Amino acid sequence: MVKHIGSKHPKAERAGGVSAAAAAEVGQSTLFTPDHGDPIFFQPCANGPTGVTILGATGSIGRSTCEVIRQNPDRFYVHGLAAGQNAEQLFALMREFRPARVALNDSGAAVELKAKIDALSGDEAKALRSCELLVGPEGLCELAGDGAAGIVVGAIVGASGLAPLLAAIKTGCRICLANKEALVMSGQLFFNEVKKSGAQVLPVDSEHSAMFQCLPRGLQQNLGFCDLAGAGITKLLLTGSGGPFRETPLDALSTVTVAQAVNHPVWSMGPKISVDSATMMNKALEYIEARYLFNAAPEQVQIVIHPQSVIHSMVAFRDGAVLAQLGAPDMKTPIAVAMGFSERINSGVAPLDFTQVGTLSFMEPDPKRYPCLYLGIEASKQGQACTTALNAANEEAVGAFLQERLSFLGISAVVSEVLEHISGRSAHSLEEILALDAEARTLARAAIAARA
Ligand code: NAD
Ligand code: MG
Repeated sequence: MVKHIGSKHPKAERAGGVSAAAAAEVGQSTLFTPDHGDPIFFQPCANGPTGVTILGATGSIGRSTCEVIRQNPDRFYVHGLAAGQNAEQLFALMREFRPARVALNDSGAAVELKAKIDALSGDEAKALRSCELLVGPEGLCELAGDGAAGIVVGAIVGASGLAPLLAAIKTGCRICLANKEALVMSGQLFFNEVKKSGAQVLPVDSEHSAMFQCLPRGLQQNLGFCDLAGAGITKLLLTGSGGPFRETPLDALSTVTVAQAVNHPVWSMGPKISVDSATMMNKALEYIEARYLFNAAPEQVQIVIHPQSVIHSMVAFRDGAVLAQLGAPDMKTPIAVAMGFSERINSGVAPLDFTQVGTLSFMEPDPKRYPCLYLGIEASKQGQACTTALNAANEEAVGAFLQERLSFLGISAVVSEVLEHISGRSAHSLEEILALDAEARTLARAAIAARA
């Protein structure tokens, strides 16, 4: 049962740019506009501004998405905002963007938000009280799947983002996907749902956005089912900075602190992905993400350390050509690429000044330094059950590290232990995947407790 606080908003009121099926459901006629001879990708803003729902609006990607919307008021408006528990920030975003609906996962935070709205007076009070407030995981799915947004940005961190994303996919909208964990844990099932509904998935992760931008149009339109070799592609070159401990002596890794781990040398990100970057589990998740997004065989994805993060990834072709995408390390660029595609829109990011770039360097990752990277690559080769378990165990281990209940090196040890238990298993349906996710978390918690 979805809990509502405040008034109910009519589903269709602010629809814009959704699929034909969803459009029919919300009482609109044609919301997809062919993109100049391109029958699959709709031009999001051709019929006026497109409604956007941001799942994870108060996080690092969520805030950058808001900035892209601010840069393009004629193209986008905010239909819905969802967050975990940050009532204060969500309230500030509501005051600015006046969404039709908001959702908070945490019921205490929802009560706090309602109190803030109730304390308002005048026109602003009237406007914000007309916004529907949804609560809990069901509330998030209700908002994500209401069919009234042409674009849903998946920017929740971790496995909690999967259910709302699946609800959004069913509406046939454009999914701008930052929440890599959701794809890692569900893989082919995710893309089977995309195919059924006609939804469009565009990657927000900067490396996958880079590779996407280097692909021929036919492949861009067939994510999840690409034929890389058929398009003359020999390798996807996935770059990564190597994180804050790229040069730390190996014997000092056992005592690194949370503050050191979240201090990424190039990117400014949320705490979980920052720790994942330090262990390079982030690159492992991205390897798995790339395999699912681009239907790539294990040997078609190569990981390359590139400390400057100027090149965001590359695609190598049979004829010897390599295409690369370069830019400042700012997530507003890939967000704008995904939201505006196939048009180039403002992101607020300045182009690179090549006179200031300096030397670019590249190297192979060291297995001794980055055990999580190799656990992830191996899990990917083993299949869906292992990638689901890897993600779940890592989320638990990183959570424990951030709370100082587990050492930095304990993260890879816990993940490795969980994977040993899961080895040889399979998972195909959503039920099997969720059961495996739960089992891997239980195993991980026990492994963490045993190390305390
Ligand atoms: P973050 O921690 O800054 O923000 C996470 C957001 O998710 C917040 O809005 C939070 O309220 C919300 N959230 C957390 N748990 C929730 C729950 N149970 N229900 C509803 N909402 C919940 O994280 P981030 O750095 O913005 O990363 C978000 C996602 O994007 C992650 O999957 C990450 O891997 C991916 N990503 C991030 C970056 C980056 O530069 N930050 C780059 C590439 C990919
Ligand atoms: Mg990335």
